[in-house]
Amino acid sequence: MFHQDDTIVAIATPAGRGGIGVVRLSGPQALRIGACLARREQPLAPRHATLTRVHGSNGMADQAVVTAFPAPHSYTGEDVVELSAHGSPPLLRSIVQAALEAGARLAEPGEFTLRAYLNQRIDLVQAEAVRDLVDAVTPLQARAAFDQLEGTLTGRIREIDARLLDLTARLEASLDFPDEGYHFVEREAASSELQDIGAMLRRLLSDAGRGRLIRDGAQAVILGRPNSGKSSLFNLLAGAERAIVTAIPGTTRDLVTEVVDVDGVPLTLIDTAGIREIAGDDVETEGIARSRGAQAVADIAIVVLDGSSPLTAEDHHVLALTGGRPRVVVANKADLPAVWTAESIDAGPVLSVSALTGLNADGLRSAIAAALAGDQVARDTPSITNVRHVALLERAEAALARAATAASAGTPEEFVVLDLNEARAALEEVTGARTPEDVLRVIFDKFCIGK
Ligand code: GDP
Repeated sequence: MFHQDDTIVAIATPAGRGGIGVVRLSGPQALRIGACLARREQPLAPRHATLTRVHGSNGMADQAVVTAFPAPHSYTGEDVVELSAHGSPPLLRSIVQAALEAGARLAEPGEFTLRAYLNQRIDLVQAEAVRDLVDAVTPLQARAAFDQLEGTLTGRIREIDARLLDLTARLEASLDFPDEGYHFVEREAASSELQDIGAMLRRLLSDAGRGRLIRDGAQAVILGRPNSGKSSLFNLLAGAERAIVTAIPGTTRDLVTEVVDVDGVPLTLIDTAGIREIAGDDVETEGIARSRGAQAVADIAIVVLDGSSPLTAEDHHVLALTGGRPRVVVANKADLPAVWTAESIDAGPVLSVSALTGLNADGLRSAIAAALAGDQVARDTPSITNVRHVALLERAEAALARAATAASAGTPEEFVVLDLNEARAALEEVTGARTPEDVLRVIFDKFCIGK
């Protein structure tokens, strides 16, 4: 069981110095402890920012803004006090220490959000969105998380669940009339309603691929023969001189990685030593082995060819190696006269880019984003970014498909109802209406302290 009868305290702002640091208290003793830290006889005024002296342990003190949020109108649904002091780590620790001495205990990771969930201030999708929002590194990730925090996904799941509940109720009512069969709903009507609901679920799931890309990002490996301009292209995309660029073939000895924002997708770029059959020395051979490995795990390959010099056997080798997988083929050095055409290599579209001048860098970013998204339509607001949600929705969808088949075949209602119950259980596990405690622990363990 989760304990909620005690008062928890933690620093809510990131570790390190800052203009402001916030200490948060939540629980039945929060108002008393907050008033005690501020040395106030009177209770703190609700939802009122009070500038006051706050006392930490060991005689430390600071001017702080203290705000009390009495239950249930607070983040956790319990009494909450937030103390915004100057962002000094020893000072904030001394305030936490003083709160502990006054009867609070240190919060576990994610415990404030867990309490908000347990007190039904937010559902599980929203709790997970809090974590995603705080962890977001691209603007699109932050927007996707905020949408979920606003309850868009929850709303759609509730809608589906309500229709399932209605159908289940009618089927169950029919069970009281054993002879009649499908008394309160026609078999065909039940089956077609199930197919409708299944289609709603599939639409949700079809957004999931791009949603996952936005949340988890993707890996791109940059391949090409030495001197084709891989490191330069890497720098162009990374927006800084990170990989070492030289005019001597084969100088990128190690794998260099950098995370960049490509149309909202956090893309880990992997620069490689190039794929060469005949290696110069042992270090180079090791680099080649690694680049093969990188290609095997990457979601997409960026094949860099030198548009200003004739194609070599090595270029054709790289093209053959990456054929049939998501890739973007680049004719680099477009600032120089081209000596071959896209038609001559039969590798699909070839993008003319100059890593040196930045010519067509935006076109390259869009091509990478499009190749990653595959045939999924790029949406502005993906609903599902979380693998846990995808797995559960897929389970619900499979159960619905079974139920639809059973209903149209005239299988007795109780069997259809079993499948419907399974689908509803999966949906309710997404929103947290029915989520086992061990699953909750796994989810909230991934939070950091103070959230
Ligand atoms: P890598 O071995 O494939 O990583 O190639 P580098 O990025 O180290 O580039 C090899 C050489 O080509 C360097 O001298 C770069 O300055 C040059 N280079 C790279 N991209 C371009 C380009 O778009 N135009 C021109 N003119 N030179 C380039």
